[in-house]
Amino acid sequence: MKRRDFLKATAGGATAALCGIGTAEARENKEPLENAIGILYDATLCVGCKACVRACKEINGLPPSIMGEDVQYDAARDVSGDTYNVIKVYKNGTSEQKDREVDGFSFAKKSCMHCVDPACVSACPVTALDKNPQTGIVQYNPDTCIGCRNCMVACPYNIPQYEYNDPRGQIQKCQFCNQAGVERISQGLLPGCAEVCPTGATLFGTRRELLEEAKRRLAAKPGEAYTYARGRASDGLHTHDKEAPEYRQHVYGERELGGTQVMHIAGVPLQKLGLPELPERSYASIAEGVQHTLYKGMIAPAIALAGLAFVVKRNTSKADQDDPQSKNSRRPEPNNDRGEP
Ligand code: SF4
Ligand code: SF4
Ligand code: SF4
Repeated sequence: MKRRDFLKATAGGATAALCGIGTAEARENKEPLENAIGILYDATLCVGCKACVRACKEINGLPPSIMGEDVQYDAARDVSGDTYNVIKVYKNGTSEQKDREVDGFSFAKKSCMHCVDPACVSACPVTALDKNPQTGIVQYNPDTCIGCRNCMVACPYNIPQYEYNDPRGQIQKCQFCNQAGVERISQGLLPGCAEVCPTGATLFGTRRELLEEAKRRLAAKPGEAYTYARGRASDGLHTHDKEAPEYRQHVYGERELGGTQVMHIAGVPLQKLGLPELPERSYASIAEGVQHTLYKGMIAPAIALAGLAFVVKRNTSKADQDDPQSKNSRRPEPNNDRGEP
């Protein structure tokens, strides 16, 4: 088959595929699991002590991120193969007042959001990333991973990190302290960050109860006494009273891309804390809608195959006609030794 004919046939298949895209319908967002667990990060409670960063490293066996010869302690500035959870600072103008957008500052947390309908899981071609059917934790299986890094491109929060400095590199990200060899959640323990947080800025619980708690806080009048839980949202054992701050009326993670199991509230706009403005429709639902429409009943590949088969058959017939040895040839048979007609 000539290259030009092959391209023509595949173009026919591609056109059929594009017609499929035109009519593709996104599936619905996935709903949060009944018992999905989560974290509520309240930036107004965070004092920037980084105990959560240290506990995460210790529990998950991660080395410190040394930033140059003069800084001989963990000074991770972002998530990496060695850091699953990092605390950052927002500053504006004189940075005088905490949790104020102008001339103020705020702490911010960055770690896996454990999306309800995760793009990383949808993008992984070998299900090395999947969602635990009970807890909703987005977990990683290094034995299945082929290192394609699709998950890194797909994640809207830039969370999965590849170990570039290791020839047998893997993807690294928070798994709620519940991967092989750690398994704190399955043993009824808290993730390390929530256990050590001295103020309850990182609070553990079910997504449902954390969302209710976040909305209660947002409804509190600034300056009124509020009782904050520490560690686990529901046990009521460790609490402290504090005046409620002026919260932004936004629970980040309630709706973004179909919701997340790690949610954030703050006194400054959440976008200033590195959390991107995102639509409610999950990227996974859109991408899978297109794929499933294209491959529904294998219609697009069948059309492409039919196009290829047609061109092959046509070229075969033409070649046969041009071939004097072919029984289909319309050339008259040679009638002498020189092969003349
Ligand atoms: S934040 Fe990124 S890595 Fe974490 S579950 Fe969502 S898409 Fe996946
Ligand atoms: S790098 Fe691994 S986990 Fe990420 S998409 Fe590829 S196979 Fe899946
Ligand atoms: S341990 Fe709590 S207070 Fe300290 S940096 Fe982490 S989230 Fe903030």
